[in-house]
Amino acid sequence: MAYLGNPTSTVAVLKKYNLHFRKQYGQNFLIDSNILEKIVASAQLTKEDTVLEIGPGIGTMTQYLAERAGRVIAVEIDKTLIPVLEDTLSVYDNVEIINRDILKTDLAALAEVKNGGKPFQVVANLPYYITTPIIMGLFESRIPPQRMTIMIQKEVADRMQAQPGSKDYGSLSLAVQYHAFPEIVMQVSPSCFMPRPNVGSTVIRLTGYKEKPVQAEDEAHLFTVIRAAFGQRRKTLVNSLMNAENLRVTKEQILQALERLGIDPMVRGEALTLEMFAELAKYV
Ligand code: SAM
Repeated sequence: MAYLGNPTSTVAVLKKYNLHFRKQYGQNFLIDSNILEKIVASAQLTKEDTVLEIGPGIGTMTQYLAERAGRVIAVEIDKTLIPVLEDTLSVYDNVEIINRDILKTDLAALAEVKNGGKPFQVVANLPYYITTPIIMGLFESRIPPQRMTIMIQKEVADRMQAQPGSKDYGSLSLAVQYHAFPEIVMQVSPSCFMPRPNVGSTVIRLTGYKEKPVQAEDEAHLFTVIRAAFGQRRKTLVNSLMNAENLRVTKEQILQALERLGIDPMVRGEALTLEMFAELAKYV
């Protein structure tokens, strides 16, 4: 089977199997071999690695991954694509295709069974409609991936790597940066996909921390505080926290905590760093 990362081969596979793109599954297949080469190079794979690919589609990126990694576990929800993948990937003996919904998959159990309990490297052109639940599921797994090299919607990538004070900074930035170091690899134009998505795309690499950048006594509480702080963006931090339904804290308690931490009481949530939130969470 020839490489699929071009329009001609992709159309040939679609015709052969009478396939129709399923919008509800976020199907936008890559048709640009330069982009595929760059994604896979930036994932820095070795033959020691087992890759978890989420949504292999017709197997376009899987071909590149199979050649660089030791093994590839490809999880695809669309059962009509399974016979296609068995055909397009038949020359590779290190690829396993699993027909399953990634959001209903026990990721730690998958790492136990398929990789001897070691973390996967995740490489994927993700279905954009479920980017955040997929990423949070991976981070919060008992065996989180070492590195994720993923194509996502540009705006979401901007939010993931945003720093305090920027308009894109929010609870997603803090959730991602609590677990991993984000780096933008490249921007990808809609013309590199079939069909073209209505949004711009970005490849981002998230390298998981061995040790978290802040020590949270209670992770769930830290993120309750963070979500509350960004719940009402135009309000001050004090007002946002006071009005949050799931935080029972008085104005005085918040003001006291801010004073102790040397934070301006008129500040908005978007000015606080992860370290500041971790400190604040201890007091409210
Ligand atoms: N990797 C292919 C490529 O780059 O050409 C296809 C990428 S396409 C953007 C996203 C893929 O994810 C589709 O094949 C889609 O069917 C699959 N997908 C969507 N939702 C999924 C889910 N919940 N679990 C697993 N795969 C899913």
